[in-house]
Amino acid sequence: MLTTFDWLRCCESGAELIATTDLIKSAPDLFPIEEEIGPPVCGIDGPCMRCWIYPRLPESSDHYCKTCEAIISKAKGLGRISRDCMIVWGFVNFLPDPIKRDGEIKKIQARCLYLLDENHFMLIMLGHKLKDWLREVLLYHGSELKGLMLLFPTIGKGGSSSMGDILCRAIHQDSRFPMDRLRIRFFSRPAELKFPHRRENQGILTFEASEFLGLLEMATIFRAQLLPNEQDMVREAVSLKDNREKSFYWGRLMGFLRQEARDMLTAWKFKEWPENRIRLLYELVAYAPFTP
Ligand SMILES: [Zn+2]
Repeated sequence: MLTTFDWLRCCESGAELIATTDLIKSAPDLFPIEEEIGPPVCGIDGPCMRCWIYPRLPESSDHYCKTCEAIISKAKGLGRISRDCMIVWGFVNFLPDPIKRDGEIKKIQARCLYLLDENHFMLIMLGHKLKDWLREVLLYHGSELKGLMLLFPTIGKGGSSSMGDILCRAIHQDSRFPMDRLRIRFFSRPAELKFPHRRENQGILTFEASEFLGLLEMATIFRAQLLPNEQDMVREAVSLKDNREKSFYWGRLMGFLRQEARDMLTAWKFKEWPENRIRLLYELVAYAPFTP
């Protein structure tokens, strides 16, 4: 028999993960603890073609059981929102207050929430809400909250990995640090969870929570000061390897940008930033709220 958590691990895409999490809350009867299992796979009418456990619904054209049918049907309208969502998997010494008060999902601006136990949670939220949510958690709990939160985007259908597989990889990493402070691990792509050491070696994976919040705040300022085409021009200029060429293009770019943008880049000494730090900032810009 599948537990509700097993159903999350069955999800192929982020849209299915959102749909399953929603249904666990809104229609718990769809997830029975005990139920007759379907006929064996070798039979003419085998079990459900998705979970491979429960009996098929006679009316299901995809040969799904009632639970999978409901999940897939709900997921069909969630692809777009899923693409804008970020998943937070947390293993912490206690559930942060805004999460513990389960009825306040709207207040914390999460799309959905799953509580595994007193120390583990999964939050799915629009990426650009992440900064405000993290700031609220840190303001509320300060240094009392300890543990690890892994942040990663959702995954679409048809890739080499499933959403459930990526979720399991996050869970596999969640207890690798002592519970002495709150750390954040940030993955810009789901596939990176398969090779976390690559980002770790580049210094762009694990951060103290307050440090990560500071980076998100920088990304928000960066996004507010530079239009998308200007962000591209800045990246192009700092990526130049030849120092003379870089200085020439940088100078020309400074003449082109608004005073506020120039002041920001100069104050940050952006031209001297190492490559990986620049990469991380641009990755975070994708999750920065737009505040003109
Ligand atoms: Zn099924």
